[in-house]
Formats: sequence, C-alpha cells, structure tokens
Amino acid sequence: MGHLKAKDVIRDIPDFPKPGIIFKDITPVLQDPEAFSEAVQLLTQRVADWKPTCVAGIESRGFIFGAPIALQLGLPFAVVRKLGKLPAETIREEYALEYGTNTVEMHSDAVQAGDRVVVVDDLLATGGTALASARLIERLRAEVAGFAFLVELTFLPGRHALRGYPVASLIEY
Ligand code: AMP
Repeated sequence: MGHLKAKDVIRDIPDFPKPGIIFKDITPVLQDPEAFSEAVQLLTQRVADWKPTCVAGIESRGFIFGAPIALQLGLPFAVVRKLGKLPAETIREEYALEYGTNTVEMHSDAVQAGDRVVVVDDLLATGGTALASARLIERLRAEVAGFAFLVELTFLPGRHALRGYPVASLIEY
C-alpha cells in the first residue's frame, strides 16, 4: 500500500483505556475529509474483489467505515452490536478477552442465508471481535467473504485468528 493520508493523522494515545495499551485514535481521520474519503475509497476497492452481497460493521467505529462502503457498493448494511442494544430478535456470541468476556449480537434477520458478507472494523488487534462476528454471520447461514480494517496491529495475532478468510487492511503498525 502506498502512502495514505490517514496514516499521517492517526494518533497514539498511551495508556488508554488502561495502562500499557497504546490506543490508535482514528478520530482525526474523520476530521479530514480527504483522508476519510481516500480510506473509504481504498477499502471499497479492496472488498469489491470479494463480490460481497452485504456489508457488516462492528460497533462502533466499524459503522463509520462500513456504512459508506456499503453505500458505495449499493449493498445492504448490517450491524454487529454490543450486548443489549438491539431491539428485535437476536443471536449472540460470547468471546474471551484478556480478562473476562465480551458479547456481540446481531438481529436474526440482519443478513440472509447465502449472503456473502464483508465484515468491517476500524482496527484489527487480537481478532477476537471479528471472529465472533464471523460466527454470528455463519450461524445465520451466510458466508464471510472477508474482513476489512483501516488499521492492523501486526504485533498481535489478529491475522492468524482470521486465517482461512481474506483480510484487507490499509495501514499496519
Ligand atoms: P480485537 O477484538 O482484539 O481485534 O479488538 C478489536 C476492537 O477493539 C476494535 O473494535 C478496535 O477498535 C478496538 N481496539 C483494540 N485495540 C485497540 C487499539 N490499540 N487502539 C484502538 N482500538 C483498539
């Protein structure tokens, strides 16, 4: 990947949300329409190769990048949310964190059987959230066409966790 405007503006916030974590803050990308647009265009091009029929975004920064990709491709947009946010009938997946667990949820009718779904988030770290999202989609008898991230932390085993699936990221640290 060549030089991306987004890479110039993403900032490191040390010790957020807890000591030892360097948080990659993507909000300056959203404040820079050229950087934001470039990132969305490039992600859209990458995922188009996978011939998706649906785009899913992971709460909440995955919505920011996933929704414009879905619109660019003229595809439905599905949301993967944290526990307890969705009002209609849902399915859930719990996954392990370093300490404790997290749960993601989708509406049972968010994707259709046979859909080819691209899963979008801002950042790939351990891959736990993305993998749990894939399990939800597969339980709904749809296929995961691939994963797309603005940022990938290559010192963490996210890509390994998602082995077997296509993975695209624009910026690596
Ligand atoms: P994971 O499930 O470990 O791949 O974590 C992915 C989710 O946590 C994504 O939604 C990211 O936005 C967020 N996340 C994890 N680590 C970081 C980090 N260092 N900086 C910013 N966001 C992060």
